[in-house]
Amino acid sequence: MNAPAAPLLQARDLSRSFRVRRSGGMFGHAAVLHAVDGVSFDLTPGRTLGLVGESGCGKTTTARLVLGILTPTGGEVRFEGAPVPAPGTRAWRQLRRRMQMVFQDPLGALDRRIPVGQQVMEPLAIHGAGARGDRRGRALELLDAVGLGASFFARYPHELSGGQRQRIVLARALILDPTLLVCDEPISALDVSIQAQVINLLLDLQAKFGLAYLFISHDLKVVRQISHEVAVMYLGKIVEQGDPDRLLTDPAHPYTQALVSAIPVAAAARRRPRLILKGDPPNPVDRPAGCAFHPRCPAAVDRCRVDTPVLKPLPDGRLAACHVAHGEAGSARLVA
Ligand code: SF4
Repeated sequence: MNAPAAPLLQARDLSRSFRVRRSGGMFGHAAVLHAVDGVSFDLTPGRTLGLVGESGCGKTTTARLVLGILTPTGGEVRFEGAPVPAPGTRAWRQLRRRMQMVFQDPLGALDRRIPVGQQVMEPLAIHGAGARGDRRGRALELLDAVGLGASFFARYPHELSGGQRQRIVLARALILDPTLLVCDEPISALDVSIQAQVINLLLDLQAKFGLAYLFISHDLKVVRQISHEVAVMYLGKIVEQGDPDRLLTDPAHPYTQALVSAIPVAAAARRRPRLILKGDPPNPVDRPAGCAFHPRCPAAVDRCRVDTPVLKPLPDGRLAACHVAHGEAGSARLVA
């Protein structure tokens, strides 16, 4: 039996807080926003971890911490077993060649005044990588790998469709031979008809280049299509993590249950009753005590108000942070 692959990326108890000014009074007053709070995960080469949750749950901050764009206020990120160096250092710039980011808005990520072929080559020039004469050939290889071709080299971003632009962004991200792509909502700005094409392309590129993806999305259905494992975030914490099919068919955490119930399903027989959550997500500055989800949770019990649940394994191996899912709730139910 093969030994499990060593993790490429490890987040350990990763936290990031920000000092903010809370409105109120003439000048407001200082408060602390815990954007990411004790997040841990492993990602092995060639696999995808999907990170899903509502906007403001800490997904993008987690991505920025992983890449070293933000410095954690607690915990650490390790890449191939070593801590990610401090941002801006020579060691960090070297490492960033191996870790690339794909953003939501491909048009915003490209310079409208420069032909896309030159933009694909640009990272090679920035990092002084490859002989100057070879760079064009490498860019053409990658245009081919993302399903475009040499005829696109001299075109400008405004001449391309949204899907073609995202392919250019992927070609540029791949030109330095990374091992990790952090994809932050990479298809949410695209037409639904194009989204599946880009997902299929990402799967093809993963198989071809052995890439690992940290794939961020608010859409659990999209995440399921591409991920080997899914982590659901709520207010800066992972609340459930495990096999995507298991999470979609039998979610353990009430928040995941609500996300799953919101997914449109064609077959009426498979449709779950829609679980409408109470209210909006709380302001992260005013994080509720106990389980932060308790003001919106239809399953909340008294214990949830005071005792923060720990993310720990269920009998089937996935992780959940919920007293009720673990059968540790007692009997007293909160009255909404
Ligand atoms: Fe709901 Fe309580 Fe579970 Fe939190 S711990 S998700 S409030 S049941």
